[in-house]
Amino acid sequence: MSVFSHVDFDHHEQVVYGHDKASGLKAIIAIHNSQLGPALGGCRMWPYADDQEALRDVLRLSRGMSYKSALANLPLGGGKAVIIGNPHTGKSEALFQAMGDFVDSLGGRYITAADSGTGVAEMQIMAERTRHVAGAGQREAFDGGTRNGDPSPSTAYGVFIGLQAAVKHRLGRDGLKGLKVAIQGVGQVGFSLARHLKEAGAELWVTDIQETNVRRAVEQLGAKAVGQHDIYGLDVDVFAPCAMGAIINPHTLEALRAPVIAGAANNQLADAQLAEELKRRGCLYAPDYAINAGGIIDVCYERTGGTAAQLKAHVEGIGGTLKQIFERAEAQGQTTSAVADSLARERLQAGR
Ligand code: NAD
Repeated sequence: MSVFSHVDFDHHEQVVYGHDKASGLKAIIAIHNSQLGPALGGCRMWPYADDQEALRDVLRLSRGMSYKSALANLPLGGGKAVIIGNPHTGKSEALFQAMGDFVDSLGGRYITAADSGTGVAEMQIMAERTRHVAGAGQREAFDGGTRNGDPSPSTAYGVFIGLQAAVKHRLGRDGLKGLKVAIQGVGQVGFSLARHLKEAGAELWVTDIQETNVRRAVEQLGAKAVGQHDIYGLDVDVFAPCAMGAIINPHTLEALRAPVIAGAANNQLADAQLAEELKRRGCLYAPDYAINAGGIIDVCYERTGGTAAQLKAHVEGIGGTLKQIFERAEAQGQTTSAVADSLARERLQAGR
């Protein structure tokens, strides 16, 4: 299928394929919209079945980044990169050097960052070849210490703030003590979110395809481990998807019982129509790109400067944005996804 007739093509400004024979790099970079600033978005490494699957992901994810940055009031456009490869077995220094060259070839129109399958180490390799990379250096942390450029603590903190806004709106609860939360995926973001929730007194159920990650949450946070397919049907207050996308689909929807969905994963709805079904069932969905904007806010501050306190305050703004989305959705009888999209488009227009 060509790019222009692709179902996920949304007037993307640029879609570029990159290949390096020596390292085996096969990658795609998509710039969706750069009206508000350079297109910033993570570089995902995933064993896509073929380049069509990778294209679909990069088109959807880059569009999501435009909306995410606009909704988070950042001077950034939306872009994304995907590397076709297995993050556990396919990484090499040469691969990420070649990816750095690929990013550099766009002259700063696209700025890359870590995403699923990549991390600070890979950003540091790319930074040898291009300055258009974020999340490769040390920076001041919220608590006054220093940490490397990994944005996932800010993402997790933003999800934690957004989850509280959703719980307040849907369940009328202020505190999280005794709140029951099921977390799908306790990797970088999921585990950090679990820690915030634990500190706030929530009860946790977790699942992950990596046994070591489940064990860490059980041993360190007292979470209860459940099977991969059992996570949906739990009688909990919140379902927090923090693994991969498209996990809200007709199949999982049948099992889902939680009145609130609030998690970090990108592109949680397999199909946009499912937002209507969630609304019909009284399930409050915190739109993924609104609630998981902490990472992009973090990355933006790293590039433009600002103190840890300013960064924290900006991330906490996610709570206010979600409150506005929930209230407008209720007042207008719309889905939260539709309202988030409208708000993002309004901010894109206003910034033009
Ligand atoms: P990660 O790879 O560190 O963690 C994901 C975890 O999910 C892993 O432990 C993995 O084993 C697990 N997992 C994968 N498939 C699963 C399945 N079917 N069932 C249960 N567990 C499964 O990634 P991350 O950085 O924590 O990101 C998690 C999600 O949040 C991703 O969708 C990512 O795109 C999104 N996100 C991350 C950031 C960030 O700052 N890292 C920012 C915005 C959005």
